[in-house]
Amino acid sequence: MRYVGSILYWTGVLILFVFMFNILGRCQIAVTNPSKTGPQQESIYRTLDFISTNIDMQCNTTLPMVQDMIKVLEGDRVNPDLVLVGHGTFERAGVAAYTGATPQTVGYLIMIADNGGFFTDKADDPKYFIQIAHKYHGGTNAAKVETLLHELSHALGVAEADYNNTAAGDRNDKRISDNCGKTLKLAEKYKGVL
Ligand SMILES: [Zn+2]
Repeated sequence: MRYVGSILYWTGVLILFVFMFNILGRCQIAVTNPSKTGPQQESIYRTLDFISTNIDMQCNTTLPMVQDMIKVLEGDRVNPDLVLVGHGTFERAGVAAYTGATPQTVGYLIMIADNGGFFTDKADDPKYFIQIAHKYHGGTNAAKVETLLHELSHALGVAEADYNNTAAGDRNDKRISDNCGKTLKLAEKYKGVL
């Protein structure tokens, strides 16, 4: 019986280990060079300001308190401790942005990928280009606005968790396209550079 007990013990340890690894693995996104400054940061601020100024009524109803959330994210734009949005290089260019703290993104609520669809259309594989929400060319004003509306919906607790879950991510994008169409159209028409 001691033999059986021992097998059960080690099976239990193994299951626990796999479980813990799974939980930690799911929450981690590898980010290098995290930053709250530079030209990319200015682009993030311009896009957040564009949303704050131009958000349509239906989008505002879908993302309640979004303007307050934007103020919190931008902080005073000077003291990095008060700024909760930033950018960095992601291990996977397929991920444009991430909301939530991980060991590598402490001090950031929203992190935008320098090498993702917010800033660029260049995919890891040169045969492909990056699109946001299956329709906006990476790096365009509309791609930037869609990406941040999507992440804001996470920050506000409106979206469902979608890390490593494409179907959930698509549902979250659909909520944005269904309710924030006017704001996205304005972004598409906007002549300046966000
Ligand atoms: Zn998402």
